[in-house]
Amino acid sequence: MARSGSDTVKVIIIGGGVGGPILALALQRAGIESEVFEAREAEAEERGSWLNFQANGMDALRSIDAAGPLEDAGYEVDTMSFVNGKGRSLGQLPMAARRPDGLTSRMLSRDALARGLRTLAEERGVTMHYGRKFETARLDPAGVCAVFDDGSEARGDLLVGADGVWSKVRTLIDPHAAIPRYVPVLNTGGFIPGLTVDVPEKEFRMQFGTRCFFAWMPTPDGGTVWFANPPRRHEPERGALEAIDDASWRALLHELIGQDHGPAHEIIDAAPGPVEAWATYDLPTVAHWHDGGRMVLLGDAAHAVAPSAGQGASMALEDAVTLARCLRDVPGGVSGLPVALARYEELRRGRTEKIVAHGHRSANDKAAGPVGRVIRDAMLPVIFRRASRDGGASMMWLQGSHVEFEERVAF
Ligand SMILES: Cc1cc2nc3c(=O)[nH]c(=O)nc-3n(C[C@H](O)[C@H](O)[C@H](O)COP(=O)(O)OP(=O)(O)OC[C@H]3O[C@@H](n4cnc5c(N)ncnc54)[C@H](O)[C@@H]3O)c2cc1C
Repeated sequence: MARSGSDTVKVIIIGGGVGGPILALALQRAGIESEVFEAREAEAEERGSWLNFQANGMDALRSIDAAGPLEDAGYEVDTMSFVNGKGRSLGQLPMAARRPDGLTSRMLSRDALARGLRTLAEERGVTMHYGRKFETARLDPAGVCAVFDDGSEARGDLLVGADGVWSKVRTLIDPHAAIPRYVPVLNTGGFIPGLTVDVPEKEFRMQFGTRCFFAWMPTPDGGTVWFANPPRRHEPERGALEAIDDASWRALLHELIGQDHGPAHEIIDAAPGPVEAWATYDLPTVAHWHDGGRMVLLGDAAHAVAPSAGQGASMALEDAVTLARCLRDVPGGVSGLPVALARYEELRRGRTEKIVAHGHRSANDKAAGPVGRVIRDAMLPVIFRRASRDGGASMMWLQGSHVEFEERVAF
């Protein structure tokens, strides 16, 4: 049955991580039917350390009344303070200090974030399929047919790739699409119950150490959230990081910390095991976000950002709400899809690419060699002083954005 004249659009969402379930919830509010297909099983735990969930991400959730499970999750951060390896202050940044709604930022585990969003989507009636790994798509006049690795299929009018940095949907839209770029720092970290660090409440202390970036924050329940970015110039072979055991990671971190001032050695010893680390990738420019009407990308699949920006999750959520608004407001139903996708890209590409560039610069600062370190340590206090003096206004382009879901998109 050809649906090209149909008013009602059905959306197939690949990926039930951060952006996928929220797109489904936003579409539900817009009266558009969708289903989410996630490769992993429902009970699989999200790998990865804790993340900094910034105010603009919470704002996007609030815009569709989906912030509930996260408003109090994890731990609030209202300040980031920076020191060098000697413990000398480089300055501090208020988090989203100029937002009229008072939102700041929260540290929470990637698992808590993804699980919270998925659970909310299920509670509100979104159809989530787990253990369904997307393999390919067939396009025909009647729409798009997603094919999964168990041989099953799902039909719709639009296929959304919310399938993360290694997106399969991206390669279908463009077989020559950019591949993720390796960023030369690793990520490790977690939560330590029962270890406190001497830092003011709600302040995350970041150390541009002599050989390793290391960060720690006390939590009100007497614990510590920490992360580290050991530099690694060359991309590790597949499986190489997983083959490194807990004791070897701890030994490497101790060696990199060396004589740096602060509690990093104590943190490494107290961290519950196993200590693991992840490689970092980003995606500066994906030439084609959509195929002109049947397939489109969202979140990391379109513009993965290095964790140093603290914005990947928030970008995926802003995308999700924006895409839903475009699909709701475009005239013509299915026949309006090409226009809706073009408008979505137009609204999102500039901001997301600017943030990817910002994340890449921050990650490179963390990996600076001896000469770069001297320049960095001279420049950062100037930047931080300016940001402190203006009360955080210079950071508002990043954390200050506000989404108005009900506002109509002009076409
Ligand atoms: C170590 C680390 C630290 C980070 N720190 C931060 C931070 O501080 N702040 C921040 O905002 N962000 C951070 N991020 C980034 C953040 O996690 C991502 O930007 C965010 O999760 C992107 O959401 P997404 O929905 O686009 O993709 P994801 O959340 O990655 O979801 C993609 C989903 O698609 C599924 N999938 C993949 N392929 C298929 C397939 N073929 N079929 C079906 N399903 C599939 C995956 O299983 C996954 O569940 C960090 C990431 C890492 C790795």
